[in-house]
Amino acid sequence: MSPTPISNFVLEGREFLVKRDDLVDVYLAGNKFRKLHTLLNTPKHHYKKIISYGGTQSNAMLAIAALCKQKDWEFVYYSKPISAVQKEEKIGNYFLAKSLGMQHIELEHRLYKEFIPSLQLNLDKTSFVIDQGGAIDEAKAGLKVLADELEMQNPQVKSLATPSGTGTTALFLAQNLPHYRVYTTPCVGDEEYLKSQMLSLCHALPENLVILKPKKKYHFAKPYENFYKMYKKTLEAGIEFDLLYAPSMWECLLAQTSEKVLYIHSGGVTGNMSMKLRYEKKTLLKTSLNKSNTFI
Ligand SMILES: *Cc1c(COP(=O)(O)O)cnc(C)c1O
Repeated sequence: MSPTPISNFVLEGREFLVKRDDLVDVYLAGNKFRKLHTLLNTPKHHYKKIISYGGTQSNAMLAIAALCKQKDWEFVYYSKPISAVQKEEKIGNYFLAKSLGMQHIELEHRLYKEFIPSLQLNLDKTSFVIDQGGAIDEAKAGLKVLADELEMQNPQVKSLATPSGTGTTALFLAQNLPHYRVYTTPCVGDEEYLKSQMLSLCHALPENLVILKPKKKYHFAKPYENFYKMYKKTLEAGIEFDLLYAPSMWECLLAQTSEKVLYIHSGGVTGNMSMKLRYEKKTLLKTSLNKSNTFI
């Protein structure tokens, strides 16, 4: 595959660059595409079934569903119980993943906690478990491909940025590109939680990895008015980003850095539709959605 392009991006009068990993594919894009690189290059006959678990609006879930569709692998996804409303929704990542053939199994909270760690046990050779959010060792190879692409494109910046969920992307990028500063910010849990997640994938955090503190304490996947404003601002500047991770990262970059930064666009815009509905319900969104659910 040819390298994803790098776009110029001006936000609040500052120049940035954006690595367009969001353009790889509609469903299998961004850092999920990078993390699934090894599996994407695995011959079909190696596996029959992929198992994963986590939230039902997850971008990783949708990316895995697209991968399994392509490979003709069965895909079983476990989550905690979800609302009847979500099951009925005809938009969003859950709906899309189901239409790509994902089998979804809900587990009661207590059972979920016991069951998930046992997934790796008694696993036959034709099944593979992808930990929540694609936080697997195999992700390293795919992020090396991204790192090599960046080296080759040589964007003339010293700093990169990517927001963190599990921290897999930021960590492996920083490891692969020691002469770049890699900014990130925790979007799921706080800084301590992020560090502990990263330390489950490495022995020590690389020195070039800089964790910026979010402007406020945010709870993951909740609608926030200032996230929405940032989303609109970046959209007006010419690029659509996701509503869960990107707004907080941009807030941090604008407030806490001053140099030219290359932002890695990790995709995730397919989840924006259902997020916008939630914004609308909370009446945080003043303009309403039109019938086609595109945003005005
Ligand atoms: C999954 C995701 C992240 C977080 O990636 P991690 O490797 O889990 O830290 C960031 N941004 C977007 C758009 C994502 O889909």
